[in-house]
Amino acid sequence: PPAKSRSESAYVREAKVVPGGSMRAAQWFKPHPPYAARGEGCWVIDIDGRRILDCANNFFSLIHGHAFPPILDAVHRAMAGGTAFGLPTESEILLAETLAARNPRMEQTRFCNSGTEAVLSAVKGARAITGRERIAKFEGCYHGAYDWMEVSLDPSPANWNDESCNPASVRSNAGVPESVLRETVVLPYDDPQRCADILRHEGRTLAAIVVDPLASRAGTVPMSKEIVGVLREACRRDGILLIADEVISFRLSFDGASRSFGLEPDLIATAKIIGGGLPIGAVSGSADLMSVFNHAEGKPKVSMGGTFSGNPLSMAAGLASLAHYSQSAIERLNGLGDRLRNKVRDSFSAAGVAASFTGMGSLFRLHLGGANVTGYRTAYTSPEKTQLIRRIQFAMLEEGILLTPNCSGALSTPMTESEISLIADKLVAVVAKQVAGHES
Ligand code: PMP
Repeated sequence: PPAKSRSESAYVREAKVVPGGSMRAAQWFKPHPPYAARGEGCWVIDIDGRRILDCANNFFSLIHGHAFPPILDAVHRAMAGGTAFGLPTESEILLAETLAARNPRMEQTRFCNSGTEAVLSAVKGARAITGRERIAKFEGCYHGAYDWMEVSLDPSPANWNDESCNPASVRSNAGVPESVLRETVVLPYDDPQRCADILRHEGRTLAAIVVDPLASRAGTVPMSKEIVGVLREACRRDGILLIADEVISFRLSFDGASRSFGLEPDLIATAKIIGGGLPIGAVSGSADLMSVFNHAEGKPKVSMGGTFSGNPLSMAAGLASLAHYSQSAIERLNGLGDRLRNKVRDSFSAAGVAASFTGMGSLFRLHLGGANVTGYRTAYTSPEKTQLIRRIQFAMLEEGILLTPNCSGALSTPMTESEISLIADKLVAVVAKQVAGHES
């Protein structure tokens, strides 16, 4: 038999001690993933020495790619003085001030360690502020691993036809209590009329609506002005808090995503790029609303804090990351994203490939078929098409480009026109070949 690669050997060992042989399904490949050894800018080098152009960027958390010198310097300096304390450090003030200076709606912030924690803390805060228990979210949208936020993550067409309750609240994991489904109202991302009708019925029972204006799982399609109008109107009318999940979409502009969409969120959850590649999450809002977490006058309405909240390494990395993600850096990166999307779309239509390419700013996603993708249901792929998308992801890796399992990706600031051309050329060739192979 041929000699095993180091990645293959690593996978055989990992499968003995880790279910599925991987810490997350999202970084698993058949027959095995390449194991990362190190990264350099927009490239990752695996333990067999192969260089891979990284469009996954640890699920969009590395805005400056790998081993960005200013982030390494900042972390080295912080680390030399100790990694974490049972005392605050000045770096947490600086990062909270940085967010407040970028967006006035982020007047106060509490840090935590993941996007999951950021969203769940915002939801708990909203329940305590409003005295209500139910939450609304959009069908097919991911907001981290909190039971209520995992409702209707991936419902199939079999779940779409109940007119009495459409979209239905559907369990995404076994073991989720029925009560969680009753407490979660599900909204359609691309049907403003239905959304308005549901909110007219349910609005007064809701503590919060959680929304990501460029929802990745629901298609990476920008939210329409009409939906934004419906949400603002319902929140004002029924006293519902609007929670913007900008865990990924914060990167879209200097002050995050909400303002460019005209959303006026009460609470904003961020993570990923604000931690410069180290674990982070944050809940931000006005001082008035954020007082729900204030312990200074006695027991807070909601306790929020953990062993590594505001740890100095994440703070230092986040400060360096945002300092270099300036208005001009954002414009340049978003411009590269526009050129990539245009190039791929033009090539698909010139070659007659039935595929579309959605996204905004530095984020993109491939869809197969001729449908106009407007949200979760039009982005939905049958199990068979999901296999084909996965095969395209594997084939792209063979070509030396790493995408996420649903063939979405993110650009990073070390990328230039030459990487954009490489991604576009390889993607168009791989999609054309795989789609033709599938049809024949
Ligand atoms: N919200 C959104 C929109 C996300 O994409 C993610 C993770 N990709 C999360 C929340 C959860 O973040 P984390 O993985 O840091 O818990």
